[in-house]
Amino acid sequence: MQTMRALTYDRVRDPWESSRGLRLTDEPRPELDESRDPGDGDMALVRVRFAGFCGSDRGIWSRQAFGDMILGSLAEEGKDRRIVGHEMLGEVVAIGSRAAAARGIRPGDAVSTESHIVCGECYPCRAGDTHVCARDRIIGISMDGCFAEYIKLPAKALWPTDLSRIRPEVGAVQEPFGNAVHACTQVDLAGRSVAVFGCGTIGLFAVLIARGMGARQVIGVEPDPRHAEMARALGCDAVIRPDLARIGPESWRHDPDVRRQVRELTAGVGADVSMEMSGFPGSVNNAVKSTRRGGHVVLFGIKSGDLVVEDFDRIVLDGLTLHAVVGRRIFGTWEVTRRLLEDPSNGVQDAIWNVILDRGQGTIVPIEGFDPQAFERVIREHPKAVIRFAG
Ligand SMILES: [Zn+2]
Ligand SMILES: [Zn+2]
Repeated sequence: MQTMRALTYDRVRDPWESSRGLRLTDEPRPELDESRDPGDGDMALVRVRFAGFCGSDRGIWSRQAFGDMILGSLAEEGKDRRIVGHEMLGEVVAIGSRAAAARGIRPGDAVSTESHIVCGECYPCRAGDTHVCARDRIIGISMDGCFAEYIKLPAKALWPTDLSRIRPEVGAVQEPFGNAVHACTQVDLAGRSVAVFGCGTIGLFAVLIARGMGARQVIGVEPDPRHAEMARALGCDAVIRPDLARIGPESWRHDPDVRRQVRELTAGVGADVSMEMSGFPGSVNNAVKSTRRGGHVVLFGIKSGDLVVEDFDRIVLDGLTLHAVVGRRIFGTWEVTRRLLEDPSNGVQDAIWNVILDRGQGTIVPIEGFDPQAFERVIREHPKAVIRFAG
């Protein structure tokens, strides 16, 4: 059996409660063989070139998120190791017969992938809401992922990518970029004032997209000085720096100083659209408190736990609209994503490469000699890291 290198979580050697990081391991290389498994007719085998390291991968690395899903799915499959990773750009090396006929995908094609593998049969899927499929599986969490030299996937999840228009390192981050596109397409942003609460990877993408979609004003809210600087470089008119030492990062209450500054920057009105991208309860309250009457709050960051919303009555009495965003619309969001990245006039792709990925300096990490300690420094110092498996 042929093997391949992969980054894995091992439930036996690395108990969830007392370990961190991922291991570089040799795993069986997946194959397509329709004579043995007719289901392979719908599958594709992809050689991974670049794989993005996501915020959720940080959660797995530090064992703060997705433990239940990983351990539960491993137990179901009777396996000990999960290959992590769900953001990628790769090259099709083999394609099942039905998939080839139905989709026209051929060996040699460059592809990214939607990370949610949806059933297509459940009620939300049939209603057209496949991004909230009731039986979805997530690559690199509830099935093996793309931190590997090869990945076998249902061909229906693949997203062909034109490498003459999108550089492969940026192609590998289309999936998280798509999260931000999904958030930024909840409301028409043209001519609006938009405040982005939390300028991590997705928040930085949102700043770029809001600009690209014609927002009148983009305000960032970000405590980290380097991320704040990036938010400015990507098009924020102003970046508010909350003083976490004063309010405490764990406080769930809003920061009156943030609210005051957003209002000052918007002629006393408040933001038309607030986007919560940080995942801290206090940030949700900042977003709600900084939105004008009749405005919109887009919620993306919060992924776990309970939350106290201050003065909930004001949401009703101010006529706010709350939007909760998960994943990407499949493939409506991807179509918008492609247009934003392929259009050189908006500068979006260049900004991702030059600013967020810092032209690859320190952000593109080869799998050869993968060192967990060194990698931890990379993900601490950069909003986005991309692992290079080939090319
Ligand atoms: Zn992701
Ligand atoms: Zn479904």
